[in-house]
Amino acid sequence: MAEPLLEIKGLETHFFTDRGRVPAVDGVDIQIRKGEVLGIVGESGCGKSVMSLSVMGLIPQPPGKIVSGSIEFKNQNLASLSENRMQQIRGNEIAMIFQEPMTSLNPVFTSGNQIVETVRLHRKIGKKEARAHTIEMLRKVGIPRPEAVVDQYPHQLSGGMRQRVMIAMAMSCDPELLIADEPTTALDVTIQAQILDLMKQLNRDSGTAIMMITHDLGVVSEICDRIVVMYAGKVVEEGDKRSILKNPQHPYTKGLIQSVPDMSSKQERLYSIPGTVPSPRALPQGCRFAPRCEYVMEKCHQEMPSLMAIDADHRSRCWLHMPEEEA
Ligand code: SF4
Repeated sequence: MAEPLLEIKGLETHFFTDRGRVPAVDGVDIQIRKGEVLGIVGESGCGKSVMSLSVMGLIPQPPGKIVSGSIEFKNQNLASLSENRMQQIRGNEIAMIFQEPMTSLNPVFTSGNQIVETVRLHRKIGKKEARAHTIEMLRKVGIPRPEAVVDQYPHQLSGGMRQRVMIAMAMSCDPELLIADEPTTALDVTIQAQILDLMKQLNRDSGTAIMMITHDLGVVSEICDRIVVMYAGKVVEEGDKRSILKNPQHPYTKGLIQSVPDMSSKQERLYSIPGTVPSPRALPQGCRFAPRCEYVMEKCHQEMPSLMAIDADHRSRCWLHMPEEEA
C-alpha cells in the first residue's frame, strides 16, 4: 500500500460571523496516499469545499479560521505555514481546479500567458522555454492546434476547452496532489466523460494523486479508488470504492446511492433523501443525520457515534454498527 501523501487530522475550520460561530468543517480526518484518486462526496453545504480550501490555505481570514487540527503534507503542517511558504506550495506541489474555469482564468490575458506565468513563478526558466512547455501541456490535455490556442483569450474557447486549459495550468508544474472541486459539473455529459478520462490518464502517467470533490456518484465510480462521504462537517463513511458503492453502510450513503437514476428500472419517481442538510448554525444534537434518517433511534438524538470499522478499509459513523451487547 502506498504511503500517505496528505494526512488531515482533527481539522476544524470555523467561520466567525455576526450571527455566531459556524463550524463548516468539524473534526475531519482524511488521508490520501501517493498516486491515489480519492473522492470526497456529499451534498452542498456538507463541508467538502471548505475542507479543500483549508488544505490550499485559501480560507478567507476573517471570517474563516482553522481553529484546530493539522494538515500534514510531506512532513510539514500546512495549517501552520506562512502565506509566503504556502504560495510556493500552491500551484507547484499542490494544484487546484474549480468548477467554473472563468473564475480562475483571467479574461484579459491569453490562456498561454497564464500558464507561462504559473510555470515561471515556480521554475527558473526563460519565457521561450516556458512557452514551449505550455504548448506541450496544452497538447497533453488534448487541445487541438495548441500553437494557436496558446495565444487565444479564455472567452474565445468553449467551456470544455477552458477546463482543459485549467487542467494544463494545474499540471504544468507536475504537482504531487491535484484538488479538483466539481471540475465537470458545469459541462455537458460528453465533455464531462472526456475530462474524466483525461484526469485518469494524467493520474496514471504522472502518478499525481487526485482529491476529487463532487456531489456526483457517477464521477466517483468512474475515477476514484477510495471514497470519503461527508455530512454536516463530518466524515460519515469512508473506504474502498467498490466496498462503499456495493455495500454502503451509513444510511446517508445508502440514500445518496438510491438517489442516482437507474436507467434499467421502470421506477416512475426518483428517490430523494427527505429533508435538507442542517445549517451549520443549528446542528442537531447527537447524529447530525438523525432528522432525515429512517432508522433513527433514541440514542441517535443523544450522542454522536464515532467512525466504526466495518472491515479493514471501510468505516461508518452510525449506531446501527454498534455490537448488540455494547449497545
Ligand atoms: Fe441514522 Fe442513528 Fe445511524 Fe444516525 S446514528 S445514521 S440517525 S441510525
